[in-house]
Parts: sequence; structure tokens; C-alpha cells
Amino acid sequence: MTHQEASRSIFKEIQIISKDIKAKYPILQNQDAIGMGILLTSSAMILLAMYGYLTGYVNVWVTMLWIAFWTSFLHELEHDLIHYLYFKKSPFWHNFMMLGVWIFRPMTVSPWYRRYLHLHHHKYSGTVSDLEERIVTNGEKWGLLRAFIMPDQILSVVLRSPWLYPEVRKMEKEGKFTQEEVKNIWRIVFSGFLPVGIPLHLMWYAFALCYLALGIDGLLGLNMAFPAEMFSFLAFSKPFIVLLVAPNLFRHFCLHFITSNLHYYGDVEKGNILEQTQILNVWWTFPFQLFCFNFGTTHAIHHFFVQETFYIRQLTAKKAVEVLKKHGVRHNDLGTFKRANRYHES
Ligand SMILES: [Zn+2]
Ligand SMILES: [Zn+2]
Repeated sequence: MTHQEASRSIFKEIQIISKDIKAKYPILQNQDAIGMGILLTSSAMILLAMYGYLTGYVNVWVTMLWIAFWTSFLHELEHDLIHYLYFKKSPFWHNFMMLGVWIFRPMTVSPWYRRYLHLHHHKYSGTVSDLEERIVTNGEKWGLLRAFIMPDQILSVVLRSPWLYPEVRKMEKEGKFTQEEVKNIWRIVFSGFLPVGIPLHLMWYAFALCYLALGIDGLLGLNMAFPAEMFSFLAFSKPFIVLLVAPNLFRHFCLHFITSNLHYYGDVEKGNILEQTQILNVWWTFPFQLFCFNFGTTHAIHHFFVQETFYIRQLTAKKAVEVLKKHGVRHNDLGTFKRANRYHES
């Protein structure tokens, strides 16, 4: 069986599993309403935690983990929206949801811009132009740099720009990116994180540097005289850090750790979906999966059967994973950590 035949067969088998579950639970047919319901419920849960923290009822750690958990639903909704799975024929409600999934996840690129990156990812998964995955460190050798930049897309691009920038220019020259695509990339770099993402990142870096200075001062017993403005800034920024920055960076770390290691990079055969991903759900990844909606189990299914919502993919995962394994999709290939996500040994 060729890889094209295997992919077609996987598609058909998963389509049947999907149809079966919708026939068994007809309520699942109300896709738009379910999507909107998940958006409103997740947003309400996040607002509840914010209220609880600001009024002193909820502890800082519970608040951060709770918000991180619910923003993972918003991430999944955003991905479904990118594939036009909700309100396809009602642009107003579709864009309302696109905005809704971004509000509590402002440290990510705008969903309207991410659509370009993500659809490109489906076409060129595992190749040098798959920037969506490369930005979250897919394909990098494991080390301190990879761990450090994993949750932060801005640091990831800025710190790796000495080699990413020439690569993009080279791809443009080789025709791997059209001029329109290069324009899209620049648009994402310069305005994809506006209006909230850039100020929030800058606030976070300043906050971290202040605490680093205080920590060094305390450790070395220097007793430096820090300006009063610094303490006012720390007091002002703390709610933003607790309610928006920390939950999102923590969730990004979980999601990016899973996604960047389940996708293969660099030597994936062109158009061979079987080689693009693996199922990554070994037991110790559970804490990560908890904050990325079991992404490690379900994302490989998505590469074969794109037009399904995340919650149905979750409901059908057990059977669908068996289909994937039967056709040779890898399962818990931990060698990927040593191979910098290459599919083959060398
Ligand atoms: Zn997708
Ligand atoms: Zn993917």
C-alpha cells in the first residue's frame, strides 16, 4: 500500500467512526451552538477565576492553573475556527468567535494571521518553510536554548533571528515562499502580536528583570536602594502577570513541548502524512496533555481528518488511534528527542 492509499484509507475509517458517534448522539450535530457554548463557558470560567483572585478568594497558584486549563479550550476552538468549523456562513459570528478565543490568550499571534501559518503547516508539515511549528522549536536540537524559548514565540523568533532570517530570504529566492507569503510573514512579525501581545510581553520581561535584580540583591546581601517607581510598577503589573501572562506561558510550554515533539522535521517525505506526526501520549506526558486538551493523542488524527471538531476528535480518539497505528503511524517514538525530531535515524 502506498502512503497515499494508506492516508485515504485512514481518512475513510475515521470518517465512519465520526459519523457513528454523531448518529449515536444527535446533539453533536449542533456544531455552531456547541462551539459558541464552549467559548462562553470557558470565558466565564476564566472571568470567575479573575474575580476570585482580585477579590482575594482564590489563591494565586489555583488561579493560574485554572486559567491555563480553560485557555486550552480556547486554543482548540481557535484551531477549529482556523479550519472554518464554526459559523462558516455567518462572518459576523465567526469573527466574533475568532476575537473571543484571542482575548484571554493575548500572548499568541492574532488568529486571523495564524490562519495563514497554520494552513501552510498542513501543506508543508515538517519542511523548512513550516514556520508555525519551527517557531515553537520543532526541529531544534534539545538543550537550554530550546527549553528557554519554548513557551515564548517572541523570544523564539528574536533569539533565533540570526539564522531564521537568512533562511526565510533563501527560501524566498528558491521560490519556497511566494512574495505574497513573505509579505504575510513580515505582517505577522510586525503586527501579529498587536495590540496587546507586545506590551504584555514587554511588561513581563521588565517584571522578570526586576525580580531577578531583587533576587541577586537578596542573595548577595548588597542592600541596593531600588527606586520606589520599581515597586509601583511591580504592584501594578502583578495582576496582569498572574491572570494573563503566567497561565498562558505555562500553557504554551505544555502545548509547545507536546506539539514540537510529535511533529517530525527535516526529512519528512513530501506529501507523506504518515511521516508528518506521531501519537505522543506516554504516561509522563499527562501533566502536559492536561493543559493542551490531550493534543499528543489527537493531533496526528487531525492531520489525516482535518474537518472534525476537537471535542469529537477527543470522543473518537481511542478508535482512531488504533486505525493510525494499524497503518504505521508511530506511537510514543521517544527517539525523536535525540534526533531533533528527524523521522529517520540519521
Ligand atoms: Zn489544523
Ligand atoms: Zn500539525
